[in-house]
Amino acid sequence: MKAIITGGGIIGLCSAYYLHQQGWDVTVLDKGDFKDNCSYGNLGMIVPSHFVPLAAPGIVSQGIRWMFSSKSPFYVKPSLNKQLVSWGLKFIKSATAANVAAAAAPLRDINLLSRSLYEELGQQPGFDFGLERKGIIMYYKTAAVEDEEAHLAATARSMGLEATVLDKAALQQLEPGVELNVLGGVHYKCDGHLYPNQLMQQLIADLIRKGVKLIPQEEVIDVRTANGKVKELITSGSDYKADVYIMAAGSWAPAVARLAGVNIPMMPGKGYSVTLDAPAVNLNIPAILCEARVALTPMRNKLRYGGTMEVAPVNDRINMNRVAGIVESVQQYFGNLPVKMPAQQDVWHGCRPCTPDGLPFIGFSKQYSNLLLAGGHAMMGLSLGPATGRLVAELASHKPTSMDITAFSLQRF
Ligand SMILES: Cc1cc2nc3c(=O)[nH]c(=O)nc-3n(C[C@H](O)[C@H](O)[C@H](O)COP(=O)(O)OP(=O)(O)OC[C@H]3O[C@@H](n4cnc5c(N)ncnc54)[C@H](O)[C@@H]3O)c2cc1C
Repeated sequence: MKAIITGGGIIGLCSAYYLHQQGWDVTVLDKGDFKDNCSYGNLGMIVPSHFVPLAAPGIVSQGIRWMFSSKSPFYVKPSLNKQLVSWGLKFIKSATAANVAAAAAPLRDINLLSRSLYEELGQQPGFDFGLERKGIIMYYKTAAVEDEEAHLAATARSMGLEATVLDKAALQQLEPGVELNVLGGVHYKCDGHLYPNQLMQQLIADLIRKGVKLIPQEEVIDVRTANGKVKELITSGSDYKADVYIMAAGSWAPAVARLAGVNIPMMPGKGYSVTLDAPAVNLNIPAILCEARVALTPMRNKLRYGGTMEVAPVNDRINMNRVAGIVESVQQYFGNLPVKMPAQQDVWHGCRPCTPDGLPFIGFSKQYSNLLLAGGHAMMGLSLGPATGRLVAELASHKPTSMDITAFSLQRF
């Protein structure tokens, strides 16, 4: 049986990996060269702790306040763009306590499934991508955020996740070399991290070794359908036929799905990162700076830091004001980390595929019985890659899924 995947990011490659494992003949088409997409320069965190989606109470008013600062971590470009307006209305509707409560268990479960699959993958020949289980620390500076984070940590514990509230002295023991200018933090030992660039390169090498066809510079520009099925994908030079078609095109998913007449409510959320090679002082444990919404991850002998979420159609502009906001935040939390304003060419950017309710979509399309859609993982795509790939392969093979995926149905919109 033949499967064709559109998109060679972490979601497409993990789908290829598990489909091949289940005996499928797999081809992956990508409009780029498989050497850079959102799945490379991200912060590499594996996050069962992230059971609260972006669409949560308070985000709308906070987001509006942030829009007036050029250095803020969250920005929605005001526009009458139809996709953005429709996404924004759905986002506002989703930012409720009920959405957060309904999302928590599915997000935890898919993250835990993915974490265990990463542990398995890390043991396979050809894989060594810096996977570590040291957790992540959510640092805060203010009493108001301390209260919120302590509450969240208690909820996490009630959901079976390891979360410990620590004062500054206890944190300092975990990071003896770093000058911490914080009030305290929560250590989520349930989390992990890895080096995404190595993971992606090793996945590609492994797939090629196993005979999976990865075809670069092959943009899907049309989709032919008939009688409730996708019949073929058209690129500028070829056409591709398969038994099952998987669309895993990241932030381009709405455009690709539209070729088949399928509507996906999604917007790109651009973020930036910078990677320092062998800094004189480094973190032991990945960090999230709560008030600033900035993240830092030690990756082997490197340190990567990044953040911001600019919701706007895909574009390659680098807003150095927002990069300055990230750098200043790191300097305010960690006195002696050697983080300075980078040159523009050293800033990586990527577009997170964001659904309005903060949950991914994984499942068959309503219109076509052989079209699987997988994406919309927003801030968690790296974390959720293996679980999504495994679920895609199970769905394609009409096997029972490893977990209940009702919450990820595209029909929820
Ligand atoms: C600053 C930053 C930090 C992040 N940190 C983390 C983190 O710590 N942990 C975490 O879990 N996640 C993190 N993320 C999110 C994560 O990187 C994304 O969710 C994930 O990479 C999305 O993967 P994807 O495969 O869906 O999309 P992508 O990686 O963007 O891949 C999509 C692919 O589809 C291809 N494509 C598009 N259109 C077509 C077409 N028509 N034909 C053929 N190919 C096409 C593209 O070329 C691209 O290669 C972060 C993101 C950012 C920006």
